[in-house]
Amino acid sequence: MKNLVDFHCHLDLYPNFQSVIKATEESEIRTIAVTTTPKAWPKNRELTQGMRFVRPALGLHPQLIKSDATEELSIWEQYLPEARYVGEVGIDGGPDFKHTIEEQKRVFEHILKLCSEAGGKILTVHSARSASIVLNLIENCLPKGRGAVVLHWFTGNDNEAKRAVELGCYFSVNTNMLLSNKGQGLIKKLPLDRILTETDGPFIEFENKPVTPKDAENVTRLLANLLQKDSQEIIDIVFSNLRNLLKI
Ligand code: MN
Repeated sequence: MKNLVDFHCHLDLYPNFQSVIKATEESEIRTIAVTTTPKAWPKNRELTQGMRFVRPALGLHPQLIKSDATEELSIWEQYLPEARYVGEVGIDGGPDFKHTIEEQKRVFEHILKLCSEAGGKILTVHSARSASIVLNLIENCLPKGRGAVVLHWFTGNDNEAKRAVELGCYFSVNTNMLLSNKGQGLIKKLPLDRILTETDGPFIEFENKPVTPKDAENVTRLLANLLQKDSQEIIDIVFSNLRNLLKI
């Protein structure tokens, strides 16, 4: 299959990072290699340099934010001019991360403001148990036209999804969402022109194996089944959505 998209994959978290990046480029799957710490940026940038299909993203994962993330945030800021893609960033309001939520908010707000000032950045955003907080910050700090947001593995409710659409957000969907009732219900309500595909490898398993960008094919097939279209039609839609997103 040509023109597959994996808009969110942690290539640097596989044991054989370097060969996974190379194999992904050879597979010709358009992949955003997200990072969880800005300290991983130089290596990701170096390994993807000159590639046509793999693009690195500058991240600061909300689950890794400590009570004081000032140092990491300043490293993130230092690399921002080199990055077109930003992520994984966002907020996690789950029970394990609630104790850092104030610092997470401060960090994400700062990230959004700097992206807005810079212009032209494309963000892949985590919003687990925090959809409303994330959407408020996007609305206040990253005006339409100053950047583009892709909500990765979105699990908000219908009203939050509707609001995200109004704010111009895209949604990258994965096999976990496509195999759950809640995820299926949400995806069916999303405008077709805002949907992208992602694997979120290696955090998601499919058929008992951690997924890789090659599983973008499974995501596409499941999405086609859910929306009662053929896979090629879904590939064309997602690819055209990606092109529109990149026009920012
Ligand atoms: Mn992720």
